Parts: sequence; C-alpha cells; structure tokens
Amino acid sequence: MFVSAQNTSAFGLVNLFPTLAHGGGTDAYRESFILNTARSGGGDFRFSKSFSCSTYEVEHLASRDSNPQYGILGILLYSKYMNDLIIIGGGPAGIAAGVYAARKRVKTVVLTEEIGGQSTVSDGIENWIGTVKIAGSELAEALRSHLDAYKGDVLEICEGERVTGLERVPGGFKATTAGKSVEARAVLIASGAGRKKLMVPGADIFEHKGVTYCASCDGPMFSGQDVAVVGGGNAGLETAAQLLAYAKSVTLIHRRGEFKADAITVEKVLGHANLTALTDTEPVEVHGEKFVTGMTVKNVKTGETTLLPVTGVFVEVGVIPNTDYVKELVTLDEVGRVVTDARSQRTSVEGIWAAGDCTDELYHQNNIAAGDGVKALEDIYQWLARQEK
Ligand SMILES: Cc1cc2nc3c(=O)[nH]c(=O)nc-3n(C[C@H](O)[C@H](O)[C@H](O)COP(=O)(O)OP(=O)(O)OC[C@H]3O[C@@H](n4cnc5c(N)ncnc54)[C@H](O)[C@@H]3O)c2cc1C
Repeated sequence: MFVSAQNTSAFGLVNLFPTLAHGGGTDAYRESFILNTARSGGGDFRFSKSFSCSTYEVEHLASRDSNPQYGILGILLYSKYMNDLIIIGGGPAGIAAGVYAARKRVKTVVLTEEIGGQSTVSDGIENWIGTVKIAGSELAEALRSHLDAYKGDVLEICEGERVTGLERVPGGFKATTAGKSVEARAVLIASGAGRKKLMVPGADIFEHKGVTYCASCDGPMFSGQDVAVVGGGNAGLETAAQLLAYAKSVTLIHRRGEFKADAITVEKVLGHANLTALTDTEPVEVHGEKFVTGMTVKNVKTGETTLLPVTGVFVEVGVIPNTDYVKELVTLDEVGRVVTDARSQRTSVEGIWAAGDCTDELYHQNNIAAGDGVKALEDIYQWLARQEK
C-alpha cells in the first residue's frame, strides 16, 4: 500500500516512508498507522518516544518471529507527511507568522537554527512597539514563550535545524536539514540575514584576536582600551554606544558623509566626549602581532591615510541575506534578497512566501519583520483555504 521500507544500516535501522494523503488525518492516526505498518513487518513494536519534529522512534520488542528484514532491536521510523506550512526561521518574522498560523489551525512546522533573531545580542532595544526598552535576550525569550504557548498538534517547533535545501515535490515543497526533511503545501522563508565581513587585509587574520562582530559578546574584554567601530547604520551606532560604557575611546568610521542610523541615536552617540567620528573614511588594513595593534584608515575624499592605535575593531558593515538554499528556486535580487510582492509577501513561486530581513523589503527592523510575517500568514491562510476547495 502506501509504504516502502528499506534496511539502511548494519544495525538494521529501517526507514518507513508512509506517503499519507495530504494532511493525513490526526497525529494519533499517523502514529497508529506507522505502528501497524511496523507490526505488519513482524515482531512487536511500541513507541519509545512521542513524536517530535516529525520524527517517530519505535522500539522493537521481539525479534524471534520477525521478518528477517526487521530482525533488529531498535527501529527508527521517520514519518514524512504533508503539513500545511513550513516556516524557515525563528526571528521576529518567523515567530510572528508561527503564532498566527497556530491560532488559525494551520498545520505548521517551524524549522530554525535558533529562536530570537539578529537583535538577540543587543543590550537594549528601544523601539519594539509596546515596550520602552528590552534587552535582545529578553525579546528572544518573549518570542520563544509566545510561540511555545501554541506548541502542540498543529505547531511543531524544530530548533537547531539549518535548512540547506528547498525543492518542489508533488503537492508542495520539501525542506531539508542535516538530519531531516519536512514537506508542506506552502513555505514561508523567514531566515533573515547574517553579518557581512570586513574585507581588508588583516581582518580575517585577526578575527577573534581583536576584530569582532559582536559588541555584547566581546565588548567587555576591551574595557579601558581604545577601539574602533566600522559602520554608520543603526547597528554601528548602537555598538559604539555600548562600547562607550567601558572603552577608553571609540573611533567611529563611516565611509559616507552622513550617518544612516536614526537621528536620535546619532545625536546621543556623537555627543559623547570619548567618541571621535570619522566620516568619508574607510578601513584600509588591520595591523597586529598576536592581537590587533592598530588599523589604517583612508579619507575617501582627500586620500589621506591615518594609523589608528586601536586594540579592538568592531565591524558593523551590513548583512547578507540567508537565502543560499533557495537561490535555485525563487527569484532573488542582485544582493541575494528574496523578491516579494509588498502587498502579500508572495515570491516568484506560487506556494512560497518570504518575510523580514531576507527579503527586498526596503527597511529592516524587528517590527517590520514581524508585520511582514503576519501579512504573509494572512495570505497563506487564504491560499490554503482556496486549495481545499
Ligand atoms: C546588533 C543588532 C541590533 C539591532 N537592533 C535593532 C533595534 O533596536 N530595533 C529594530 O527594530 N531592529 C534592530 N535590528 C534589526 C533586527 O534585528 C532585524 O530587522 C530583525 O531581526 C529581522 O528579523 P527576521 O525574522 O527577518 O530575521 P532574523 O532576525 O535574521 O532571524 C532569522 C532566523 O532564521 C534562522 N535561520 C537563518 N538561516 C536559517 C536556515 N538556513 N535554516 C533555518 N533557520 C535559519 C536564524 O537562526 C534566525 O532564527 C538589530 C540588528 C542587529 C544585528
């Protein structure tokens, strides 16, 4: 019937792939279907673990009367069935969509490396609407508990899973991670963005030896020292503000004439006595022996170079969208962001939506990512309902 089985290892691990019809009934139905399938192979089986993240573990209790193919002590059954939706990413976009999906009873699997998103490392977020100030780690916890509140029969949360592939399958799409594959009729890409590296000589050699990409993680190690921050956006200014609390001096380097960050943040940071701002300036080389001892910078208008005697270089030069795994499937823009329809978050492929910092949305902020996740989910819900008809 709907089952194929194969021995996959010397220990007799058997993977059964019940291709249950779309949706496939309740989880209890699926569990009993798999258990009965296992029994039909011979021997006696019981579930040793309840299902989690679409993975079923079944213990083989007796082997005496088993079909030789099943003559083993432990059997892992990996059940693959069609969900309504896969959400890739656990930042504000993915979590907002996950909450809305669960509330609408859309059968959803969230696949994410971690929960919280990029601003988890921030000391204080002051523009998350409804909250005057919140640490990034607290925001991440709040997002986690909001999503956890809906965990259950319609919502599975698989943390620690990096999606490496997304492909079409009959009736939907398959997302693959190192350890599993999950299928669904629709997909929301909400995998955000990662840090862009400083591309000057010495930056790679001295990474973690004075060149760093995380002020909250490494900043305190530079207490009482002279440091530089590269980048004039919100993240750069925020990093400078954090470092000013304990560094002897902070030199802020920005390649343009005007800072891109919010006016209020710029005013606060530039007004600090221990801060020197160098605009129209870019890094040329990071120097050091075992650790960083300085950085040469160049004024892009005059060509004049200066050696800054800093021991720390904090880099905030932008982000790279986490979209490598979909580049063959959906249309990306010239910098690798998923092209979306701003009204609905639809991508170039029917059945796939995208939200947050991985998209070509003009502004990248927590509130915007969350809002776009919600917008996408509303549209996904309508689309799924139309498919049922
Ligand atoms: C230091 C810093 C401070 C910031 N401060 C503010 C601020 O004060 N206010 C503000 O509004 N915004 C701030 N931002 C911007 C804000 O963090 C982002 O706009 C927001 O996090 C975007 O949310 P997102 O859900 O789209 O993506 P992200 O937050 O990037 O989340 C992406 C999620 O996807 C997961 N993921 C990535 N790749 C994969 C994969 N292949 N498979 C599975 N999962 C994957 C990640 O683990 C993560 O959970 C800050 C950013 C930084 C870096």
